[in-house]
Amino acid sequence: MSDVHDLVVAGSGVAGLSAAVYAARADLDPLVLEGDEPGGQLTLTTDVENYLGFPDGVGGMELIQRGRDQAERFGAEFRHGSIEAADLDGRPMELSLSTGETLRTRALVVATGASARWVGADGEDELMGYGLSTCATCDGAFHRGDDVLVVGGGDSAMEEALFLAKFADSVTVLHRRADLRASEIMAERAREHDDIEFAWNTELVAIHGSTEEGVTGATVVSHPDGHPAETYEAGGDVTMDELDVGGVFYAIGHEPNTEFFRDTAVELDDSGYVQTAGGGDAWATTETAVDGVFAAGDVMDPDYQQAVTAAGTGSMAALDAETWLEAAPLDSAQPAVPVPSEADD
Ligand code: NAP
Repeated sequence: MSDVHDLVVAGSGVAGLSAAVYAARADLDPLVLEGDEPGGQLTLTTDVENYLGFPDGVGGMELIQRGRDQAERFGAEFRHGSIEAADLDGRPMELSLSTGETLRTRALVVATGASARWVGADGEDELMGYGLSTCATCDGAFHRGDDVLVVGGGDSAMEEALFLAKFADSVTVLHRRADLRASEIMAERAREHDDIEFAWNTELVAIHGSTEEGVTGATVVSHPDGHPAETYEAGGDVTMDELDVGGVFYAIGHEPNTEFFRDTAVELDDSGYVQTAGGGDAWATTETAVDGVFAAGDVMDPDYQQAVTAAGTGSMAALDAETWLEAAPLDSAQPAVPVPSEADD
């Protein structure tokens, strides 16, 4: 039987690293699972200019490496793998990893993040971080004077387009249908902006450029019935255009990485984000519906999703876990979630 850890931190993005620094400094010897995307979303961006304390900006990779060095300096241990299944009912909790290993832990901080959906256009793997981005707040300022595309028709796409319009010469929103999903207020703001145009019933099929030059163009297809990429892939008749653009931004939603929580008592909202005990007077907690399980960063935050807020909630989760561990019985065989008795029926 493996050792019982005091604290496992799942995820090595900025939230997980921040939790690891705090937990390691509190002598909790955290074990950090690197996850499927070690370093998280910051590793997909080039320079981060809005993280406090770096007046000249800092590379996303560098920020993550510095965070990791900092956590290791205080004794955090890092291990490959991600959680595939979790048994949170017993004490200790058991985590089955992608590596085949099973970990036992008294407390868990989940900082597994949310992954931006990608379109699937040709060239996106090579150009992500080189003119193709999933975060206008992070990368918009690099596109002063460019013509840029935003893909999506929801509130995120409107928000990205409005933000990018501060820098870019023109912003074209590509939407696969003719009706926006965005709220009316956001849609109206974007529609009324002089520098934002809409390409309806249009989808991106390829992005052109190189890691040296960045994005230089895009191929888009249109069809009056909408969802043109499907028609195109099926060999149907679509209008194809080559656009001369210097940047492409994906805003087609995020998916929180919470698959392994599906069969547990941790509460998720309809989109899969972990629900923490928040709201009203109790907003400042990272507790989940399961005792001893805490959540931090994008996995519990569908709204802000910034590096600095993820670092903040990461530190909160470690502090909450520390307080919880101090009060929790060391060798308790109590279930983590009260099992309903017949009297509760
Ligand atoms: P969303 O509402 O799910 O919208 C995603 C958009 O991307 C939809 O228009 C969808 O098209 C399109 N899309 C999805 N997959 C696509 C694909 N493979 N190719 C092309 N287009 C694709 O996601 P979101 O905009 O990120 O918003 C998520 C939630 O956060 C929403 O509840 C939103 O209101 C909220 N939010 C609020 C604010 C704000 O109030 N300031 C800002 C951002 C987000 P279809 O419409 O055809 O499905």
